[in-house]
Amino acid sequence: MTDAVQRLVEDLKAYGGDTALFPDEPMSRHTSFRIGGPAGVFLVPGSREALIRVLTAARERGVRTYILGNGSNVLFDDAGFDGAVISVSGMDRISVGPDGMVTAEAGASLSAVCKAARDAALSGLEFAYGIPGSVGGAVVMNAGAYGGEIKDALLSSEYLDPADMTVHAVPLAEHDYGYRSSIYRRTDRIVLSASFGLKPGSREDVAAAMSDFAARRVSKQPLEFPSAGSVFKRPEGHFVGQMVEESGLKGYRIGGAEVSEKHAGFIVNRGGATCRDVLALVEHIRETVRKNYGVELECEIIHVS
Ligand SMILES: Cc1cc2nc3c(=O)[nH]c(=O)nc-3n(C[C@H](O)[C@H](O)[C@H](O)COP(=O)(O)OP(=O)(O)OC[C@H]3O[C@@H](n4cnc5c(N)ncnc54)[C@H](O)[C@@H]3O)c2cc1C
Repeated sequence: MTDAVQRLVEDLKAYGGDTALFPDEPMSRHTSFRIGGPAGVFLVPGSREALIRVLTAARERGVRTYILGNGSNVLFDDAGFDGAVISVSGMDRISVGPDGMVTAEAGASLSAVCKAARDAALSGLEFAYGIPGSVGGAVVMNAGAYGGEIKDALLSSEYLDPADMTVHAVPLAEHDYGYRSSIYRRTDRIVLSASFGLKPGSREDVAAAMSDFAARRVSKQPLEFPSAGSVFKRPEGHFVGQMVEESGLKGYRIGGAEVSEKHAGFIVNRGGATCRDVLALVEHIRETVRKNYGVELECEIIHVS
C-alpha cells in the first residue's frame, strides 16, 4: 500500500460512515476470473453520499480510483492496483413501478433485476438472465445475449460526474450505444442507476424464456471454471469459437490459463492462472487466428493495471 493510500484509509476510518474498507485486498476475491493482485484498498460505499465522500477523499489524497461492478468482465494485473478499487455492490436497490418501469441501482445484480421483472410479469429483459454482471456493468458494456442487448430495454440511466460530483439523468439516446460499447466506456462517469421500460407479459412465458437461456448457458459455457466470459468481440462475418477450435487451440494451456474445451471463445482459469498467463494466451490466440484467417481479434475483457 502506498503512503497516499495509507493516508486515505486513515481519513476514511476517522470519518466513519457506511463504507466498508479492505486494505491490501486481493482482486482475485472480487473477479469472476479469480485473478489479480491486491488493490491498495478495496472500498464498498453503502450509499451515493458515501461514494461521493470516498471519491472526494481519494482525490484530496492523490489516490487513483477504479470503479468495479461485479468483476465479471475484468482482468486485474498480478501486481494489483496501486490505488482504491471502489465497488458499487453496496448500492443494489430494485424497484418495480406500476407502468412497467423497473429501476435498479448500479450494484444490483442483473439477474436479480430479471427476476424482479419476471415476478411482476414484465417482459423485455429475459435475454439478460444469467449474464453475471451488475446493472452498472451491463449499462456500461451494453451487455447482450441471445439476440438482445441492454440498449433494447433501457429507458435512461443516472450517473455521477466525478469532476464536480454532480448527478445527471440521461435518456437512452445519449448513451451512444454500439456493440459492447457506450458513452460510459469513454468517460469516467459513474453509473448510479438505470431504468428499464418493460412490457406486460405472462409470468410463465417470461420464466420459461429465462429458464431456457439459463439452460443454454449451462450446456454451452464452461461455468464450472472461473472465467470472464467471451474473450473476444465477435468480428463481422466470423465466429470466434469456430476459428479458435478449427485452429486446434481447444485445451491449449499457458500456465493455469486454458482455452476452454467446452467453448473455444472462453479462457478458463484451471487453477492458479495469472494475469500474465491469460495475456500470453490471448496473444497466442490472436496470432494464430490472424495467421489462419487474416482476422484481427479484439479483446472484450478489460485489463486493469
Ligand atoms: C460466465 C460468463 C458469461 C458471460 N456472458 C456474457 C454475455 O452473455 N453477454 C455479455 O455481454 N457479457 C457476458 N459476460 C461478461 C460480463 O458479465 C458483462 O460484460 C457484464 O456486463 C459486466 O458487468 P460487471 O458488473 O461484472 O462489470 P465489471 O466487470 O465489474 O466492469 C466492467 C467495466 O464496467 C465498468 N463499470 C462497472 N460498473 C460501473 C459503474 N457503476 N459505473 C461506471 N463504470 C462501471 C468497470 O470499470 C469496467 O470498465 C459474461 C461473463 C462471464 C464470466
